[in-house]
Amino acid sequence: MKTINTQDLAQWLDATLQVQRFKDYCPNGLQVEGKKQISHIITGVTASEALLQEAIRRKADAVIVHHGWFWKNENPVVKGAKKRRLALALAHDLNIFGFHLPLDAHPEYGNNAQLGLQLGLEPLRDTEGAPLTCGPENLVWLGQCPKGRTLKVLADDTEKALSRKPLVIGDPSHKPNRIAWCTGGAQNFVDAAIEHGADLFITGEASEPNFHIANETGVSFMAAGHHATERYGVRALGEAIQKKWGVRVEFVDLDNPI
Ligand SMILES: [Zn+2]
Repeated sequence: MKTINTQDLAQWLDATLQVQRFKDYCPNGLQVEGKKQISHIITGVTASEALLQEAIRRKADAVIVHHGWFWKNENPVVKGAKKRRLALALAHDLNIFGFHLPLDAHPEYGNNAQLGLQLGLEPLRDTEGAPLTCGPENLVWLGQCPKGRTLKVLADDTEKALSRKPLVIGDPSHKPNRIAWCTGGAQNFVDAAIEHGADLFITGEASEPNFHIANETGVSFMAAGHHATERYGVRALGEAIQKKWGVRVEFVDLDNPI
């Protein structure tokens, strides 16, 4: 089994995901330092206690997630659930890597790129092939809906692709043409989608105003699950690490209905 130096992996991840480009509200990269050598990595959506326990059970050396720790808006005091998570990582010398916005935005491994592949959405691209994006930090992708499909069919396809029933606001017989999407809790980015001519906006979560805005603008809205829309970026990143370094990488999907 191949092994990689923790610092080498950290540097490669920071460079590949262009971490320095983002103003984020958590640290991106190595968040908790563990073993100096890594041969087995677990990837998952969130560094929850359950994911850590699973990584320890599988004897992993590192965990790479989209939702890591140390968010700016949280209480920094180490107690309760936070203490238990940190204690587990330190007791087992587990490296914890977290990549938030850089892993939403990456043109190949990113959550938005990977959700587009899952749902068969064709991204609009500029002359150099880069995806056309809009909204805060350019996180909202723009694309073309699969031709001739109604909102009802798109909702059914999404349910099949993500194994979760989406919340859909809009006329089921409407055939959207331009689509905008952003994974996770991006329901407030709907304004950018509307400004850029989208007929349908897909994100992970919904808030109360989304119902009224969809009805008043005629731009359909779909909330397909925060977890469900953000499984695919970290999984693709793990596959890229395995290919590049030859270390063992396993994606662990612990279901979350939100
Ligand atoms: Zn998220």
